Amino acid sequence: MSSDTIIKSPRDWREAPNLRDYEAARADFSWEAARRELEGLPDNLGLNIAHEAVDRHASGPKRDQPAIRCLGKKGDVREFTYGELSALSNRFANALQRVGAGKGDRVYVMAGRIPELYIAALGALKNRSVFCPLFSAFGPEPVRSRLAIGQARVLVTTESLYERKISRLRSSLPFLESVLLIGEAGKSTNAPGTHDYHRLLNQCSDRFSIAATAPEDVALLHFTSGTTGTPKGAVHVHEAVVAHHATGKLALDLHPGDVFWCTADPGWVTGASYGVIAPLTNGVTSIVDEAGFDPDRWYGILQNHKVSVWYTAPTAIRMLMKAGSALARKYDLHALRFLASVGEPLNPEAVVWGKETFGLPFHDNWWQTETGGIMIANFASMNIKPGSMGRPLPGVEAAIVRKKSNGTVEAIQEPNVEGELALRPGWPSMFRGYWNEPQRYEKCFAGGYYLTGDLARRDADGYYWFVGRKDDVIKTSGHLVGPFEVESALMEHKAVAEAGVIGKPDPVAMEIVKAFVSLKEGYAESEDLRRELLGFARTRLGAAVAPKQIDFVAALPRTRSGKIMRRLLKARELGLPEGDLSTLETSEE
Ligand code: AMP
Repeated sequence: MSSDTIIKSPRDWREAPNLRDYEAARADFSWEAARRELEGLPDNLGLNIAHEAVDRHASGPKRDQPAIRCLGKKGDVREFTYGELSALSNRFANALQRVGAGKGDRVYVMAGRIPELYIAALGALKNRSVFCPLFSAFGPEPVRSRLAIGQARVLVTTESLYERKISRLRSSLPFLESVLLIGEAGKSTNAPGTHDYHRLLNQCSDRFSIAATAPEDVALLHFTSGTTGTPKGAVHVHEAVVAHHATGKLALDLHPGDVFWCTADPGWVTGASYGVIAPLTNGVTSIVDEAGFDPDRWYGILQNHKVSVWYTAPTAIRMLMKAGSALARKYDLHALRFLASVGEPLNPEAVVWGKETFGLPFHDNWWQTETGGIMIANFASMNIKPGSMGRPLPGVEAAIVRKKSNGTVEAIQEPNVEGELALRPGWPSMFRGYWNEPQRYEKCFAGGYYLTGDLARRDADGYYWFVGRKDDVIKTSGHLVGPFEVESALMEHKAVAEAGVIGKPDPVAMEIVKAFVSLKEGYAESEDLRRELLGFARTRLGAAVAPKQIDFVAALPRTRSGKIMRRLLKARELGLPEGDLSTLETSEE
C-alpha cells in the first residue's frame, strides 16, 4: 500500500466528534481549561483521580448508570453502577486504613480482569495510597523484583496467584505487611499471614471521605522495561487525570451513553489509564472481560453489549484478520462507532481491513508508560494515512530531534527526516520520575525535551510515522520486555555461561523473545537442554516474558566495554549484513 493512501473522515457522523477541527482545537486548547472540566474535591481539597472517576458521578445523575460490566470467563456478568463502585471502593479505602496503609504507601494489585481489581485501584487512590498494578502472567521473578523496587506495603491478589507466585517469596519481602487474598469462586480464604479480601471489606463501612489530595501527590506506579538494569517504576500523580479525561474525550471520542471496551489488561498502563480511569471520568459504561483473546468471544461481546467505542491492539487485530472477515460478518456490529489501536505499529493493511470489515478504520494512536496518556492520535474527524500514528494531541508539542556532535539536542524542522521522537514536558500525565532512580529519569531529558526512545519521522502534513525503537527493548504481543531481565533469569541456570536476548520479528506478535545462550564447561548442547531452559525461564519469568526460542552459541558478541551486542545477534538472526551495524546506535541507558 502506498504511503499516500488516505482514508477520508466520513462527514456523515452518527455522533459529531468531540474534536471536530484539529487546528482549531489545538489553537483553543489549554490544560487549565481541560482541568476545569473536572470537579475537584469538595471544599477545595484538591484533585483526586478516584473522585473524578466515580464519586463525582455517584453523587449525580449517573448514580444508577452501569460504570463497569464485568464478563466472567464462564459467562457470568456482574455489573456495577457508579453508585455501587463508589461504595465498594469506599470499603476498600477503609480496609486499607484498617491494615494501617495510608498516604503514599504502595498498594500493588495482581489479579486478572476481575471486579476486585477495579475496586482496589479506585479505593487505593481514594486512600491516597499509590496504586501499582502487576500483570498476572508475570512469573515469580518479575513479581519479586517489582514488589521490592516499589517496597510494596499491601498486595491484593487471588488465592491461586498467591500460592503459585508469591507465598514462597514472602520471607524475602519484609516490607510487605499485608496481603489481601481474593478467594476462588467467591469462597473465603484462610492462608496464613493474609486477610480475606471480601471478609475484610464486609467489615468496613461503605462511606469514606477523601482527604486533601494535592494534584502532585503520587497516585500510580507503572513498571516498564529498559535495555539494561532493573525494571523502572514510572511515577504518576493525581493531576494525570486531567490528561486521562481529555484524551478519552478527544482521542477516543467518548460520548455520554457510549459502551466502551478497552481490551488491555490493567497490569499494563493502557489497561489502567483507559481500562479504569478515562472511561469512568467520561461517565461511560466500560466493558471488562476476564477471558483471553478469542475471535468468537470478542465479536460476541461487541455485538451483545453493543460496544460503540473499541480500543484494542495491533496483535489482536492481526489475529482477527487471520480469523477472517467472514467471521466478523456473522455478528451484528452496528453499534460500533469508533475503533482505536495502540501499543505497537499498526500495519496499514489492518487499518484498511477495519474499514472493509466493520465499515470503520482503526485509528492508531501512540503513547507509552512514561507519558501516562495518549500523545499522538488519529482523531475521528481526521483523514487517516494508514501506517501513521497521527498528529499530536492538543496541548502536546511533539518534535523529531537529533543529537548534534557537541551532544546537544535540536529539533529537525525538515519533513520526512528520521530522528528521535521527543515531547515538550508539561502535560499533566507526564511521569514525575522513576521510583527512587533520579539519574535514570534525568537521562530522559535533553534540550528541553523528553526523549521517548522511539525513532520516528514527521511528514509535511504533520503526521508522525513510527520507525522503530532506539534501544533494545522488545515489544511482544503489545508488551514491553527488557532483554536484561530475561538474560538475568537464564543465567541463573547452572548450565548457562552467558545469555543475549533479542526481539525476533513475528507476523502476529510483532516480535517474539528469542535468547542466545552459551554454555559453561562440561555442558553440551542438546534438545533436552533447550527444552529445560525454555521451561526454566517460563517458570521464573511467566509466559508473557519468557523466551519462545533459544539457540545455543559458542560465545556472544560483545563490545570492547563488554556489553552484549544484541543488535549483532539480531542482524545475524535476520541474515542482515553485519556491516549495517555501523549505522546503528549502540544502546546505552
Ligand atoms: P509501553 O510503555 O509498554 O506502553 O510501550 C510504549 C512503546 O510502545 C512506545 O515507546 C513504542 O515503542 C510502542 N508503541 C506504542 N504505541 C505505538 C504505536 N501506535 N505505533 C508504534 N509503536 C507504538
